[in-house]
Amino acid sequence: MPASLAVRRPPLVLGNWKMNCDVAFAERLLAELVGQAPLPVEVGVCPPYPYLGLAAARLAGSGIGWGAQDVAAQADGAFTGEVSSTMLADLGCRWTLVGHSERRTLFGETDALVAAKVARALAAGLVPVVCVGETREEREQGDTEAVLSRQLDAVTGELAQAGGRFVLAYEPVWAIGTGLTATPSQAQSAHAFLRTRLVQADVSGAASVRVLYGGSVKASNAGALFALPDVDGGLIGGASLVGEEFLAIVRAAARRC
Ligand code: PEP
Repeated sequence: MPASLAVRRPPLVLGNWKMNCDVAFAERLLAELVGQAPLPVEVGVCPPYPYLGLAAARLAGSGIGWGAQDVAAQADGAFTGEVSSTMLADLGCRWTLVGHSERRTLFGETDALVAAKVARALAAGLVPVVCVGETREEREQGDTEAVLSRQLDAVTGELAQAGGRFVLAYEPVWAIGTGLTATPSQAQSAHAFLRTRLVQADVSGAASVRVLYGGSVKASNAGALFALPDVDGGLIGGASLVGEEFLAIVRAAARRC
């Protein structure tokens, strides 16, 4: 039996607010989400660092979680501007994104740095959401699987003993914020490839690890993506800033249950 069918994986929908919002906007959006709680699947939001305390205060007791968009590779000390995994845990974060393509491409994060961040997140009890994905050129050159392998293999050493307490996000770079979305067959094949690779690397709990899809997910395309056997939910950027749109995506994920 393929690994995708062997284990039931509860859907997860995460909103990545990126560097958007102010206090008033965050208050409105959080209130809109809390107003609909309890939500039918596991949901979290990842606001910018300064708004994590607000998210913690407003979401507490709602069942909706919160997480960070990034984490330092260092434990603590003289690292001006960085935020440590223990600080995020202290603020009640459940997840942290690691290796988002914007971090990799705009801020030069290497596979080795991503692996160090994954290790820090795990050590603090956070669930790392490891983002991987190919650029348009890499896809056109037929290098998608090679890129996914390289990015995943860089972190499997850290993930191997995590007991499945991590999440992968397949985010084709060409689909992020562009309005372009992977076709169901492109998404399914990348997700199945990632899961198979985890199994081959002997990563414990590989069959139960959620692999989210990210890249211009909207209410109108979420249903088709979440119906795929290896797509266990979504990492949502732009659409997570619009309460009704995000909630519609959450409802689409619930139809997977
Ligand atoms: C993202 O930033 O992780 C993302 C998927 O963005 P968008 O949904 O806007 O493409």
